[in-house]
Amino acid sequence: MKTVKGTRDLLPEDTYLFQQIEQRAWDHFAKYGFREIRTPIFEETSLFLRGIGDDTDIVTKEMYRFKDKGERDITLRPELTASVCRAVIQHNLVGAEDILRLMYSGPMFRYERPQAGRYRQFYQFGVEVFGSQDPLVDVETIEALMSFIAPFKLPNLELMLNSVGDETDRPAYLKYLRQTLNSKRELLCSDCQNRIDNNVLRVLDCKQSNCQSHLQDLQPISDFWSKENRDHFESVCSGLKRLDIPFKINPRLVRGLDYYTKTAFELVSGDLGAQSAVMGGGRYDRLIETLGGKDMPAFGWALGLDRLASLWSTYADPEPGPDLFLIFGQRQWLDTALPWIASLRRAGVSVAYDIRVRSFKSQMKRANRENASWAGIIGEDEHDQQTVALKNMQSSEQKSCKRSDVAATIKNKEIPC
Ligand code: AMP
Repeated sequence: MKTVKGTRDLLPEDTYLFQQIEQRAWDHFAKYGFREIRTPIFEETSLFLRGIGDDTDIVTKEMYRFKDKGERDITLRPELTASVCRAVIQHNLVGAEDILRLMYSGPMFRYERPQAGRYRQFYQFGVEVFGSQDPLVDVETIEALMSFIAPFKLPNLELMLNSVGDETDRPAYLKYLRQTLNSKRELLCSDCQNRIDNNVLRVLDCKQSNCQSHLQDLQPISDFWSKENRDHFESVCSGLKRLDIPFKINPRLVRGLDYYTKTAFELVSGDLGAQSAVMGGGRYDRLIETLGGKDMPAFGWALGLDRLASLWSTYADPEPGPDLFLIFGQRQWLDTALPWIASLRRAGVSVAYDIRVRSFKSQMKRANRENASWAGIIGEDEHDQQTVALKNMQSSEQKSCKRSDVAATIKNKEIPC
């Protein structure tokens, strides 16, 4: 038996990276006032139909949709913004004067064509801010993202920024695109031909170079921006500049979900091949209303954990081994040492040993392989005297130590005995 196509097991070396990223994220975004929300893995399908948009790739091709035993139309969540909005409405989480900041992490499901960096079950960490249309929200939420990403020290990351307008100016641009692209219809790929009729904005980010070559002379959406949307975009740009956050304006940047208004942005990496987007997001001022809530502006983004972990795996420090690896001359000495080992663990020391108590040489090899900070050798003398020969694996310094001193010695990182 194997994992289903497009899914994968995250093995301990993978989960180590995921945990590190998530832990850093929880700590970092808590400082900005974000609090965690967990919503169900599956929702009523109508939430995604209304939220993401009937004509998007996600809704038309990629949903894991099924009837449950009660004949309910259910879909495994393909993203979390719609679910978080549903929760905000259902629990009335935002009062008139409030700004609400939520963060989440978990698996998403899309029936996409699997390839490197693209899975059918993948993981996202994301944030959402509800209750303000102030461009400062866009700026501070992008700043929070960039200062989270910076310590990973990843080269070749670029922040791409655009505005996709809103209901006041986007319809005119869509009309222009449809008219112009209809005249070139035969030159475009079959997907783009469909997009002209169903989701014309998505023609702009077609990955086929042939299509791209026919799009070069199109007017950018910025030519159609209303005064309000232009002002919003300029405020976001000047806010980012004030914070020394480098970005590139990409007039072709559109997003795969219909709900975006005004600011749209992506973080792309030159090291990821075709699936270059590490995260994406933007403003979605109409979504809460579309889903039956009140008129409430919002802003958010989602970071692909699979892609971030893959980029970071080249640079991350190796996973630390146990604090102490115990090496025993005889198996029964391990048995008598168990209460002491339990007390070490209670004192916060991570302890490993070879339960089979093989030869000294093979136990020592394993202490090295597991990258232990200390080896504790218990031969006949140490067993009789209730001591341990403690060896610092980095300096190779070794001394006999009372067992009751071991926890303090390891915590102080030196041998006092
Ligand atoms: P989206 O929700 O499409 O805006 O995606 C946000 C981020 O999630 C992307 O930038 C990717 O890093 C990640 N992502 C989206 N789809 C997949 C997938 N099928 N496999 C892996 N990561 C994905």
